[in-house]
Amino acid sequence: MTTDDTRLTGADARAWLLAYADRVRRDVDELTDLDRRAGDGDFGWNIATALDRARPTLTDIPDTAPPPDAFRAASDAHLGAGGTSGPLFGLWFGRLAQGPGEPWSGPALAHAFQSAVQAVCRLGNTDVGQKTMVDAMVPAVKALEAEPLAPAWRGAVARAARAAADGAEATRDMLARRGRASYVGEHARGVVDPGALAVAWFFQAAADTRAAA
Ligand code: ADP
Ligand code: MG
Repeated sequence: MTTDDTRLTGADARAWLLAYADRVRRDVDELTDLDRRAGDGDFGWNIATALDRARPTLTDIPDTAPPPDAFRAASDAHLGAGGTSGPLFGLWFGRLAQGPGEPWSGPALAHAFQSAVQAVCRLGNTDVGQKTMVDAMVPAVKALEAEPLAPAWRGAVARAARAAADGAEATRDMLARRGRASYVGEHARGVVDPGALAVAWFFQAAADTRAAA
């Protein structure tokens, strides 16, 4: 198969999501611990179970499939998962699944992620600064939009990963205004939001696929 590094193919999206599922499975205890300290402790289980459920569908996606097929598999699996995060990640991946049915250019990628984060902010009734997954999603989209003409999608996503990691780290000092973490008040300070950390891992996973390639 010829690989064109400028556009995200369905095979790239499949590998990206499988690498993300591997990362979450490997480090699930870290997510569980964070949600235990500022929530109810179910986040790691919710997200790892969803991604495990997506794995066989993802693996069956043919190389010639368009990117939305892979994102749809992730969306369906999250929509059936528990917690607040299930429907929110289900919607996020669901919006990505509405992207173009052909390999994605840099602008198409940025546009798809922009539409996805807008939908999450609406459903979650939130925006940056409230200690949620959105604190990693929004800076990632800004990084993607900053260079929509980037020649290689992986480079743009690597920059999005750094922005998402910084955004997740910034949640450490925030007080939660949404979700169960908001019930624990000051106890949530000093704890990184697990949803934001998972988003940072998601963007980072694209880089892991290159290392594996
Ligand atoms: P629950 O709070 O119902 O136990 P999970 O543990 O599955 O849900 O998910 C917690 C994560 O969901 C948080 O770390 C946060 O990132 C995200 N989250 C919670 N509420 C919202 C919201 N209103 N908008 C966006 N994200 C949210
Ligand atoms: Mg929870």
